[in-house]
Amino acid sequence: MEKRLIEKNGDYISPLGFGAMRLPIDKEYEKSIELLREGIDKGINYIDTAFFYGFGKNEKFIGEALKNGYRNKVKIATKIPAFSIKKREEMDEYLNKELELLNTDYIDYYYLHSIDLKVLKRLKKKGIFKFLDKAKKDGKIKNACFSYHGKADELREIIDTYDWDGILIQFNYFDENIQVKYEDIQYAHSKGLGIFIMEPLKGGLLSKLPKEAEEIFKKENSDLSPADWAFSWLYNIPEITCVLSGMKNKEEIEENIKIAETVKPNSLSNKELETIKKVKNIMQEKLPINCSSCGYCMPCKYGVDIPKAFQMVNEEHLFNEKHIENQIKYILTLGGVYNEPSNAGLCTQCNKCIPLCTQGLNIPKELEKVKKEYEKPGYNQLLWLIKHIAYPIFNKYIEYKR
Ligand code: SF4
Ligand code: SF4
Repeated sequence: MEKRLIEKNGDYISPLGFGAMRLPIDKEYEKSIELLREGIDKGINYIDTAFFYGFGKNEKFIGEALKNGYRNKVKIATKIPAFSIKKREEMDEYLNKELELLNTDYIDYYYLHSIDLKVLKRLKKKGIFKFLDKAKKDGKIKNACFSYHGKADELREIIDTYDWDGILIQFNYFDENIQVKYEDIQYAHSKGLGIFIMEPLKGGLLSKLPKEAEEIFKKENSDLSPADWAFSWLYNIPEITCVLSGMKNKEEIEENIKIAETVKPNSLSNKELETIKKVKNIMQEKLPINCSSCGYCMPCKYGVDIPKAFQMVNEEHLFNEKHIENQIKYILTLGGVYNEPSNAGLCTQCNKCIPLCTQGLNIPKELEKVKKEYEKPGYNQLLWLIKHIAYPIFNKYIEYKR
């Protein structure tokens, strides 16, 4: 993989970065170590984690996985849970804890996790910039960065507020200009910053497309999957340093590396870019709720599984699924047939989740749409029938078959 240069610090970074958040470390610890090392052996030199991922568990895993000489082969990127910090002392406590968990003397790329302008202004008063300066001076961190979940028109101000070394932003062909404008990427790049990308597949949404959209891609190049197209669009942008991907198996690693090796900056033809635009238009027409399934709004105090509820509506519209089948799926998944209910109707409109949404969605208002689709009059009766009659009969049948 041809590495990309960060002008400001002279680091060469692989265009594909390993997002460790989705590795199955709870169920398959050893396999997860193998996967991470396989990615590194094949040329990935940037590993992304955060304290927030399992409250230290993911960082501890990285510390273990990078033993046996792997630490020196990579840049570690991790994040302080900036959004929840109340006092200056907490910043040092987190950093020292994260160094310990990661089993390292220094962190290469240290991010303020999930900030927007309001959060940054609050942190500034608490001394976040002095903390970052000192951590750099002490050699505990090499680069100070931030991951952004805010409004597109506030990013420039954040970039200019401090002497940052890198930014981590949500960018993909569907969300272009939603949280980040391309001019701001160019601006950050002109200042020499590393540009790191998260959500290249929009929480998986761009890896499985409606049939008509998939046909358009196939017609242009039958060898590429929808995910390959999404990554290609990003690698084609010369200002982008590295695209994070949460790879969960060897096949995904191989496929992602192949695309990262193939697509150079400015290498897509106008025709290929037009093809991506056509697919984007189809997706925009069909997607009712622009949720990326990131889960930042969770947990909801009242038990609503927000991303799942949105996913059900989106999938029905994107893939023209039959409404009655989806209605039953909704009841089985969120209705509380064999677990706690987590349906849209539980929303009390407390509005606590609204500021947390990375897509700027008015979540309770969007949940109303879900309710309108799946919790029409008769919902409770249907739920009762499934829970007390259909589901027990089905279980008995399974037992009998066994
Ligand atoms: S507004 Fe609704 S979904 Fe959001 S936190 Fe409150 S109850 Fe949960
Ligand atoms: S509603 Fe917003 S915060 Fe919640 S999963 Fe969707 S995009 Fe993420």
